[in-house]
Amino acid sequence: MSTEPGPQSVKGPRINKGLTIVNTGNGKGKTTAAMGVLFRAWGRDMKVQMLQFIKHTTANFGEQRAAQKIGVPVRAMGDGFTWRSKDLDQSADLARALWEDAKEIIASSDNDLVILDEFTYPLHYGWIEVQEVIETLGKRPEMLHIIITGRHAPQELIDFADLVTEMNVIKHPYSEGIKAQPGIEF
Ligand code: ATP
Ligand code: MG
Repeated sequence: MSTEPGPQSVKGPRINKGLTIVNTGNGKGKTTAAMGVLFRAWGRDMKVQMLQFIKHTTANFGEQRAAQKIGVPVRAMGDGFTWRSKDLDQSADLARALWEDAKEIIASSDNDLVILDEFTYPLHYGWIEVQEVIETLGKRPEMLHIIITGRHAPQELIDFADLVTEMNVIKHPYSEGIKAQPGIEF
């Protein structure tokens, strides 16, 4: 028998609700898990879109290509920021600009699922206020599902979310000197 803790049983009526989902942790799979849900929702003719923070505007990985083929809006609007970036002000400005667009997209009733990919970084670095994000999410259309990915999810966001998963590294080929493989990593 499994010793894993199961979901707590809840008495009373079950409700429908747009979920706030956070995929965090240092292991691989945060963005791709979000894209798996996007694929699933898209298959149900739900209106889906993904906004990618941090990732370079010109990103043309497998996922951007797939999205274009199936006609799902995926917009990357970053400068490929890493902790080594020279121009942090520019990274912060790009993140704030995309957040301004994200707020409108979230407030409109045009979507069923919106993914804010790598959104934890602008929060972690203090470029965008967590409190403002929580307020925006709190007053969004009732059935809109939101997925936020990235390492170091702030505690306030975790507290607010309905579903939080932490990916942990057990093994990663990177530490064996294996290059990122097309179709698996990008
Ligand atoms: P994916 O996009 O494959 O779902 P992710 O969103 O969980 O991965 P990120 O933290 O966004 O991962 O990192 C992006 C890239 O860094 C991925 O290509 C991933 O394989 C790689 N990566 C993730 N975890 C590690 C790790 N522990 N060591 C080295 N590289 C990693
Ligand atoms: Mg990611």
